[in-house]
Amino acid sequence: MSSTVIQTEDFVQSVADGLQFISYYHSPDFIRALSSAYEHERAESAKYAMAQILVNSRMCAEGRRPICQDTGIVVAFVDVGMDVAWSDTSRDIDALVNEGVRRAYQDTDNPLRASILADPAGARRNTGDNTPAVVHTRLVPGRAVKVGLAAKGGGSENKARLGMLKPSDNIADWVVESVSELGAGWCPPGILGVGIGGTAEKAVALAKEALLEPIDITELLEKGPDTATEKLRVELYRRINSLGIGAQGLGGLTTVLDVKVRDFPTHAASQPVALIPNCAATRHIEFELDGSGPAEFDPPPADLWPDVTIEATEDTRSVSLDSLTRDDLASWRTGDRLLLSGAIYTARDAVHQKLCEMLASGEALPDGVDLRNRFVYYVGPVEAAGDEVVGPAGPTTATRMDKFTREMLEGTGMFGMIGKAERSSETAATIAEHGAVYLIAVGGAAYLVSKAIRKARTVAFAELGMEALREFVVEDMPVIVAVDVTGRSIHDEGPAKWQEQAIRFHQREA
Ligand code: SF4
Repeated sequence: MSSTVIQTEDFVQSVADGLQFISYYHSPDFIRALSSAYEHERAESAKYAMAQILVNSRMCAEGRRPICQDTGIVVAFVDVGMDVAWSDTSRDIDALVNEGVRRAYQDTDNPLRASILADPAGARRNTGDNTPAVVHTRLVPGRAVKVGLAAKGGGSENKARLGMLKPSDNIADWVVESVSELGAGWCPPGILGVGIGGTAEKAVALAKEALLEPIDITELLEKGPDTATEKLRVELYRRINSLGIGAQGLGGLTTVLDVKVRDFPTHAASQPVALIPNCAATRHIEFELDGSGPAEFDPPPADLWPDVTIEATEDTRSVSLDSLTRDDLASWRTGDRLLLSGAIYTARDAVHQKLCEMLASGEALPDGVDLRNRFVYYVGPVEAAGDEVVGPAGPTTATRMDKFTREMLEGTGMFGMIGKAERSSETAATIAEHGAVYLIAVGGAAYLVSKAIRKARTVAFAELGMEALREFVVEDMPVIVAVDVTGRSIHDEGPAKWQEQAIRFHQREA
């Protein structure tokens, strides 16, 4: 029997189309699971965050723009049938995947953010087209090519953990303890991938591939677990949700929408366990090529999204950033909802590094950069498309900026920062010491946030691309006070307040 011939162009175009598709469509199982979690949520701040994620999800599907400003590092699992031949053998599978990535990320209708840096231990130069992807290729029996694609956000990938446990150690205890220490930088609610067995690298690959599976914990809970891995999934789902971490770490009933577990035989002396979280911008898709043409992808039905709106409550305050005073800051308390209007600056890791070096050496900050009485927004937006002012522009993880916070507050006189996830207790104390505040926007609601940005201009460090220092003029940008001038933190108070109720809720569900 002759081999199936796969046209390499079909493969490249399918990768490109798949990546474009997942940049703006959440999968139906994710939308259903998040809608259900939203309905059951009782914690106000967490419910507000989930509402933003759901509204953002629908807006992205309608506007065909990215769910999150971090459009991810591409991971591909390619299973090549042993009875497959390729129309062009001049490039290997990695090169074909990378061609698809390049095409997807440089699409002019929906440009995606190039986040990949070459020479990671040295110059950390942006490759400009989001290549290379991480590609896992296997030869398998058959006449087709099966591809699993993921666009993995850095915030959730940074929370991956590997434990080389003793055979007598309890896997569930290790996973639950690890999750309790992750903080909120992985933008929950999401899905956890757990890989058990093999060797260190095998366990990590198992955890990553497990995240490609659809959410089906409700079916498992209804049927009841049979195998050891099913029992572990159920135990982890209940115990992790009982931690009360909640959406964005604000405290609430749902932290994980599912836990996926894959295992592999291992050495008698070993028990490797890997944990990888997937965030609120969970993006993955699978397709198969059988030689009949490129893959096709069906959008989720429009009525899948729940009828959720984001209403300002009586307590929501409108804040004019251009006339704000320290007395105003002092009146804000953790959990307050604000709608910000006025000018803010953007800065991420690279700009912080540069500004802090300038401050330390007594050098003047770049022309046009005056952070006194201003907020710095931790963001690296997607490039604008069409008539947009800026592309999706949600917050990045603030914890990475903790090491710069004292220098920035002391050296610039700024009012505070806007980001996502918790600050260390030392940083919260530093914020209080300076009469400053830390505000959060919702990670995974980037397109929604970008609609509040009315003007954007690059002020300095243009060579840093998405990391450049910009000025945004925002109107009614929704944020929550996460650390107030007394140093209280919503990421400490929220989970502590909601843990008991989360335990009771998940006991009732059992
Ligand atoms: S939702 Fe959060 S972790 Fe996920 S890609 Fe966006 S910013 Fe990163």
